[in-house]
Amino acid sequence: MTAITNHLPTAELQRLDAAHHMHPFTHGQELRDKGARVITRAKGVWLTDSEGEEILDGMAGLWCVNLGYGREELAEVAARQMRELPFYNTFFQTTHVPAIALAARLAELAPGDLNHVFFAGSGSEANDTNIRIVRQYWAEKGKPSKKVIISRQNAYHGSTMGGASLGGMSGMHAQGGLPIADITHIDQPHWWAEGGDSDPQEFGLARARQLEEKILELGEDNVAAFIAEPVQGAGGVVIAPDSYWPEIQRICDKYEILLIADEVICGFGRTGNWFGCQTLNIRPDIMTIAKGLSSGYQPIGGSILSDEVARVIEGHEFNHGYTYSGHPVACAVALENLRILDEEGIVTRVREETGPYLKEKWEGLCDHPLVGEANIIGMMGSIVLTPDKDSRAAFAAPEGTVGLICRERCFANNLVMRHVGDRMIISPSLVISRDEIDTLIERARLSLDETYDRLK
Ligand code: PLP
Repeated sequence: MTAITNHLPTAELQRLDAAHHMHPFTHGQELRDKGARVITRAKGVWLTDSEGEEILDGMAGLWCVNLGYGREELAEVAARQMRELPFYNTFFQTTHVPAIALAARLAELAPGDLNHVFFAGSGSEANDTNIRIVRQYWAEKGKPSKKVIISRQNAYHGSTMGGASLGGMSGMHAQGGLPIADITHIDQPHWWAEGGDSDPQEFGLARARQLEEKILELGEDNVAAFIAEPVQGAGGVVIAPDSYWPEIQRICDKYEILLIADEVICGFGRTGNWFGCQTLNIRPDIMTIAKGLSSGYQPIGGSILSDEVARVIEGHEFNHGYTYSGHPVACAVALENLRILDEEGIVTRVREETGPYLKEKWEGLCDHPLVGEANIIGMMGSIVLTPDKDSRAAFAAPEGTVGLICRERCFANNLVMRHVGDRMIISPSLVISRDEIDTLIERARLSLDETYDRLK
């Protein structure tokens, strides 16, 4: 067989890819018809494809390459760790220095008394762990009936049976008979799409109070936890009205419901603080982490537990774990990633410098005839495409047709921007410079113009 390398023609790589490689969230026929773009190299915020095109990655891969591509330090740490101890497990009373050091560093960074880390290989696995943790917690506390986890429509918490059930994506629930038992959903705090004529703050309160209504409907003795992303990412970068989170916090406190903040996207600087719950003043009992933890250089995730939750769970053997829980190479790379984010002041820069600069430019897109509103927090933002800003109208069904045109125009203009329905979203690497932000905005505007032209 011919060696498959970057040197093969793009069409041949695409043919082999479509023939043998099954892609996540991809339609097989479309893949065969159009072929996937083959990415060969990356540096900073720039991708290079097999045709030699330079593409500005407005999504940091999948919201994860917080530190940008091509950091030699991470490659060196990985190689060193592979030579020294490529694998050992953390089951049955064994441990190793990378897992110890990363857990201790995360305990330092995480707010409040979130001091105990259970490692997983991904965000989905970590959320599966969380389901088991909260149920075990209440069982150990003598309240085994507290099992139901409340989540939100249009949330994303992963793709495993547990993660997809916690998520509120109807398209995912439709395949495979989800959600699994004892997971239920309330509405999301998405004022633009669902707020009608209401005032955004009143809408935020009403949506938060659905949590209370759901707890009362189920009976507080049956509810274990509420899970939410501080800012919904894959749902379209939905930032809740300011009234929402304080009310959610009040309700969780009042009914003793564990609060799980899914920080898989918001964590590690994306919102301008180490964690989204610091930006939004949320006090979780458990945080889910992944993605930016290693800037995507290694697959790693985890759950960070409060002193109290960990104390209860550790009262007995917890019959749970993954072969790669605390994988030494992944832990060493994550630790180095956190060191660089910290020592180069990257999180502070997002909060004080590049975040505000991007916000100003991003919100400037609102003068475009297609753009209804712009939402942005730190380095994650969305714009809504609408045929009529005043009435907040949606384009004629099927939803997402215009978003898809815009995404394809972005791609043609060498900018990666994703669409969620008719919302366009960005989540660039935290190291993006002002000049690169200018380029991102120029290409976004050009793509919006071309989309607008196509609708005429
Ligand atoms: N939670 C959130 C908020 C996410 O955005 C994602 C992935 O996008 C996940 C969980 C799942 O993480 P993973 O894809 O690493 O399993």
